[in-house]
Amino acid sequence: MIASRRAVLAALAAGPLADCGRPADLPAGVQAASARPSPAAGIRTPRTVPSAAPVLTRAQVVARYGHLRPHSWGFGGPGVIRDLAMSRRVIALTFDACGGRGGSGYDQALIGFLRRREVPATLFLNSRWIDANPAVVRQLAGEPLFEIANHGTRHLPLSVTGRSAYGIAGTRNAGEVYDEVARNQAKLTRLLGVPPRWFRAGTGYCDDVAAQIVTAMGVRFVSFSVNGDGGATFTPEQVHSTITAAPGGCIVICHMNHPGSGTAQGIAAAVPRLMAAGYRFVLLSEGLR
Ligand SMILES: [Zn+2]
Repeated sequence: MIASRRAVLAALAAGPLADCGRPADLPAGVQAASARPSPAAGIRTPRTVPSAAPVLTRAQVVARYGHLRPHSWGFGGPGVIRDLAMSRRVIALTFDACGGRGGSGYDQALIGFLRRREVPATLFLNSRWIDANPAVVRQLAGEPLFEIANHGTRHLPLSVTGRSAYGIAGTRNAGEVYDEVARNQAKLTRLLGVPPRWFRAGTGYCDDVAAQIVTAMGVRFVSFSVNGDGGATFTPEQVHSTITAAPGGCIVICHMNHPGSGTAQGIAAAVPRLMAAGYRFVLLSEGLR
């Protein structure tokens, strides 16, 4: 078992959500979020629209938020979306691709199942995973069945004080929060032709000041209400039982970067059962207005 998977298992024992991957050095050649996008040829993103919110520069973020002290730490915070705010039989499946050592795999069986059954899903991609899987990213970005979202640059907990989650040290200040969001936002904007609408922090953790910064940057911070695969450590049976018990209106977090995990089998068992019970699956852009 690789080190990061051990960390995940250890984290499971300590809390409700495990996650994958370790932070890595910043990728070279990253651009500022305000860089003009250059759409990749042949990529369609019909359900992704640019945010109308004003986008702050790094200097503006530091000036406005650099002196604030955080008061909360967890999966929620101001402006953080935890569910679809409805009780109808609608579920948003989201899959994280965390990247890094031991976290850059691609679960082809999972994505293949979603394609065959035409199950929409929102895919949160980290910069490191994008760099490791460029051809897969180009393909997924061209499929209307999937919506691409931002899962951070170095996969760091989003903190203005360097607070850790699962043994991973978080961003240390407002400027690093900006970098964690903006650099992968710029990378995805170049790939998609438009900025992704949604962001989820590495490990899912944030403090309240960092959450405010994400919103001020014109991106919506999405957490989850159902931990569907325990950071890709659940057995297929655990994934199945967790997801079939999910309430309407929930946002389910699972992972698409551990092809050896129980996620694909569990999803393939749970989704038909939920469909038979009248549940419908939506992209975040459909479920959140
Ligand atoms: Zn992750």
